Amino acid sequence: MTIAPASDAERKMQFLFALRSKGVTDARVLSAMERIDRARFLRGLFAERAYEDTPLPIACGQTISQPSVVGLMTQALNVQPRDKVLEIGTGSGYQAAILSQLARRVYTIDRHKRLVREARTVFEALDLSNITALTDDGSFGLPDQAPFDRIIVTAAAEDPPGPLLAQLKPGGIMVLPVGQSDTVQSLIRVRRTEDGFDYDELRPVRFVPLIEGVAPEN
Ligand code: SAH
Repeated sequence: MTIAPASDAERKMQFLFALRSKGVTDARVLSAMERIDRARFLRGLFAERAYEDTPLPIACGQTISQPSVVGLMTQALNVQPRDKVLEIGTGSGYQAAILSQLARRVYTIDRHKRLVREARTVFEALDLSNITALTDDGSFGLPDQAPFDRIIVTAAAEDPPGPLLAQLKPGGIMVLPVGQSDTVQSLIRVRRTEDGFDYDELRPVRFVPLIEGVAPEN
């Protein structure tokens, strides 16, 4: 007996099942992840592996994050429909696209101009008109548009960058990996209160490092 290869629909069902089994249970997050096709953010042979729960290579030596990690970070961010969200580390644009389904407006910054250009092309093709993608060093945030209801950083810094903390609204939430780049990092959630910040540690993760400065063009 031969086993037929899984159809696209079956692979997408398995994808959603895997997300749920890894703790992504928020209905709005799951439905955003069902709507946004991860394959659109990958190239060549990697697009065929889009529904595997694994990080994959993208241009500029960077990676698209593991879908369950994208789901868990999005869930921890608890995005509300009126929110203005800032993402540092556009990469493929996948995380920003998911946020665009949940928030009013998404700003996303990457230090690689090429990644920003390619992500914009996908956002346009998918008609995601509430995302603004910019090339810059995201460790300084986006003072022009601050403050933000939510901030998500998808590259690891040793500590939460001061300018990002400063650009978070009171009541706002920031989710980011912290720790040295070559060891296991911790995903943390920072809540800004009226008189300070509350921190909680969510899980171990592994991200590419947050690097200073805009990347030279290649
Ligand atoms: N969120 C992405 C994955 C990000 S990978 C996705 O959904 O595909 C991390 C990204 O952070 C890389 O693209 C890297 O170029 C970017 N990055 C690293 N340091 C940065 C900095 N200081 N400012 C902006 N982007 C940075």
